[in-house]
Amino acid sequence: MGYRNVAEEVFPKLLAAYGGETFRMITGGNVARILAWWKEKPKVQIKLKMWKCKWCSKDFVETLENYSKADFIYCSMDCLRAHTRAGLK
Ligand SMILES: [Zn+2]
Repeated sequence: MGYRNVAEEVFPKLLAAYGGETFRMITGGNVARILAWWKEKPKVQIKLKMWKCKWCSKDFVETLENYSKADFIYCSMDCLRAHTRAGLK
């Protein structure tokens, strides 16, 4: 049963069973208000601390394991070796 069913099936039955005045009292005069209960959830924004690999410049979440040498941080031993071979410049 969806909202379309409420409008097409339930409301006409309420109207037929209770009459216009009672139906208006039940729905508060605006049938759409019955369907207006849903509110969008506030969007949750999570800020993650990131770090950047010195060699490949990719960004990573702080919790990811990293390798460090001479105050530089690398995502892999390959990046660390490549930067070391390049003279840590
Ligand atoms: Zn890297």
